[in-house]
Amino acid sequence: MNVLSDRYGRHFPYLRLSIIPACNFRCTYCLPNGYHATPGAAAPLSLAEIARLLRGFAELGMHKLRITGGEPSVRHDLTEVLRTASSIPGVRKLAMTTNGTLLSRKLDEWMEAGLNAINISVDSLDPASFARITGHDRLDDILAGIDRAVAVGLPSVKLNAVLLRDVNDHELPAWLDYLRERPVGLRFIELMQTGDTLAFFRERHVRAEALETQLQDAGWELLPRAADAGPAREYRHAGYAGRIGIIAPYSKDFCAGCNRLRVTATGDLRLCLFGEFGIPLRPLLQEDDQLEALVRAIGGQLVRKEQTHHLHEGRTGITPHLASTGG
Ligand code: SAM
Repeated sequence: MNVLSDRYGRHFPYLRLSIIPACNFRCTYCLPNGYHATPGAAAPLSLAEIARLLRGFAELGMHKLRITGGEPSVRHDLTEVLRTASSIPGVRKLAMTTNGTLLSRKLDEWMEAGLNAINISVDSLDPASFARITGHDRLDDILAGIDRAVAVGLPSVKLNAVLLRDVNDHELPAWLDYLRERPVGLRFIELMQTGDTLAFFRERHVRAEALETQLQDAGWELLPRAADAGPAREYRHAGYAGRIGIIAPYSKDFCAGCNRLRVTATGDLRLCLFGEFGIPLRPLLQEDDQLEALVRAIGGQLVRKEQTHHLHEGRTGITPHLASTGG
């Protein structure tokens, strides 16, 4: 079996595929004015193009796939996308990142189509704060959907919360109450600077270190990093069913744990979330017999992957906001 790897000894069995750039939320740190289509922009990849793309990556050892966006549930054929993805030989873990607005209604359908892991963005457990951050007042329904995902035994349920200074960075006690009985993994994500959000970033970025100190003081234990783990630092506590992960992109060695590649909704390969270029794969997704050429094209690009992003120098690459790339 091929496994994609780069000059720095990193392996890439994990693909994040955006299936639509549009989103129905207006998160202050991502799309504060909502999504506006770029006139003349290409349509997202079709089901047939997605199937060819995934066959190519599977040939190269991809076994974990995350469907993301924009908001993937805005796409009407999402269930078919999931079914297509789960039918590709080699795809063992089929995950999706969503804002959860359709979770309670569509969970059974998504699981039946092969979804076996989900990340739901929940930036606050306080309804008013959630509404201020996301522009939507749907917290109760989203939390009910999460409880259902746990109850029906979806193998992996994780929540993402982006840390925002003086907005939600004081909510650890509420989260600890939440995690006491719920076997979900909460991820605190440090805000990342993107092309469109410099002023917001300067105002709201907060390092995760203070939060990690609070966790350690409360008896949470840092787990040793598994050989194939991504960049999150994972904590557990015997008194809690849930776990907590910290994603701190500005911390030392963050990129050493990079194990993922990304493809945008229109089929551009991105070697780094904050890279300076995309590699258009769409021309190689038009016929089934292009598989070999596709595999060669993807494999040949890995030498261009840099050792680290350049966020510390304020270089955000061609990513205006994460909805454009699939965060
Ligand atoms: N719409 C989906 C959702 O709400 O999860 C998927 C796409 S969203 C871009 C993926 C993840 O990126 C979300 O958890 C979101 O909170 C996170 N995100 C977006 N912009 C970010 C930023 N500037 N810094 C850190 N995380 C960000």
